Amino acid sequence: MAEPDGRTLGDEEVAAAERVIRSGMLNSVWGVEAKALEREMAATYGSRHAISCSSGTAALHLSVVAAAPDPGDEIITTPITDFGTVAPILSQNAVPVFADVDPVDGNLDPDAVAALIGPRTKAILAVHLFGASARIGELRALADTHGLTLIEDCAQAWLTETPGGALAGTVGQVGTFSLQQWKHITCGDGGLVITDDDELARRMRLFADKGWDRAAGRSHAAFGLNYRMTELQAAVARAQFAKLHGVVAARRRTAGLLTKALAGLPGVLLPNAEGHAWWLYPLVLPGGGAPALAERLRAAGVPARAGYLAEPLNHAPVLRHGPVYGTSRFPLTEEPAACPEAERMVAETLLIVDWNENYTDDHVSTVAAALWEALGA
Ligand SMILES: *Cc1c(COP(=O)(O)O)cnc(C)c1O
Repeated sequence: MAEPDGRTLGDEEVAAAERVIRSGMLNSVWGVEAKALEREMAATYGSRHAISCSSGTAALHLSVVAAAPDPGDEIITTPITDFGTVAPILSQNAVPVFADVDPVDGNLDPDAVAALIGPRTKAILAVHLFGASARIGELRALADTHGLTLIEDCAQAWLTETPGGALAGTVGQVGTFSLQQWKHITCGDGGLVITDDDELARRMRLFADKGWDRAAGRSHAAFGLNYRMTELQAAVARAQFAKLHGVVAARRRTAGLLTKALAGLPGVLLPNAEGHAWWLYPLVLPGGGAPALAERLRAAGVPARAGYLAEPLNHAPVLRHGPVYGTSRFPLTEEPAACPEAERMVAETLLIVDWNENYTDDHVSTVAAALWEALGA
C-alpha cells in the first residue's frame, strides 16, 4: 500500500508565505498574521483568549506557567504521550507524577489520578491520545474538588469532541495545540493555547514574550522566555487552519469505513469513534501480540506500529536516572512509580495504524484485508 503523504500544503500556503515576506515584517510583535490566527482560533473554539507560540511543547510550557506551580509541586499526567507533555513540567521545576491509563484507549484513568492527588498537587495535565477524548468531564470534576488547574493537551486532538459535546481544549482551564509537521495541520512547528481566564492568559502572554509587558516600557516584572510564533509560521498556519474542518472530516469518513470493515474481527478492541479526530487509528489487542501483528501488517504494506513509544514515560531513562540539570536530577527525588496498564499497552497490546486525510476507500480496504488476513478465523 503506497501511503499518501497526508499533507494539505498548496497554493494557499505559498501565497501566505509570500504575503508575509513581501510585507517586510516577519515578527509577530509588530505583524498582523499571528494576531489574526489567534482571533480565528478563539472564534473556532469559542474561547476568550488564544495565544500563538513556537511549538506544541512551548504551548504546554505556557500552560504549566499558567498553573503556576512552586518548585517541587506536582503535576499529574499520563505516561503515554509525547515527551513535549512532560518537559515543560520539569522546566518549571515541578515534578511529573504519572497516573496509570485506561487499557481500552490509553487515556488517563480518573481513578488513578484521584489516588495520586496530594498536598503538593497543583494541576492535572490530560492528553487526548491519538484524537480520542480523555474522560475530561471526570477530570474537571476532580480538579474542581481539589482546587487544581486542568490542562488539556490537544496536540493530537484538533476538533476532538468530548462525550459532553464540548470541543476538547475547552473543558479545562487551558487547552494546548501543536502545529508540528505531522499533526492534523502544520506550519512545520508551532503552537496555540486557549483559555477563558484573563489572568492565566496574561501570565502566558508575558512568559511567551520574555516577561515583557510592552505597555509598561522596557521593564521586566515577570520571568519569561521567547516563545513567539513568527509571521511566516502564522500565515501558513492560517491557511492550514482554514482546511482543518475538511482534514478532520476526511479522516473521520475513512476511519468510520475501517471501523465498519473490522466489525466482528476477533481478538481486537476497536476504538470508540465518538468525537474522535483520528490523528492515528489505534487498536488494542487485549491478549497481547501487538509487536508481531505490526510486523505482519508492515509486510503486507500497512503502516502499522506497536506500542507508540519505546517505553512509557515513567520508564524514560532521563526521568529514572537523570540528570535533568547539570549533574543533578532536580527537581526529581525518586524514580517514577509503576503504571502497569501503560506498561502492558506499550509492550504488548497497543497497535497503531498511521492515518491521514488523503486515505481513500482503497487504502481502507487494504488495511481491513490485512487485519482480517492476520486475525480472522
Ligand atoms: C506533538 C505532541 C506534543 C509536542 O508538540 P510539538 O509541537 O512537537 O512541540 C505534545 N503532546 C502531544 C500529545 C503531542 O502529540
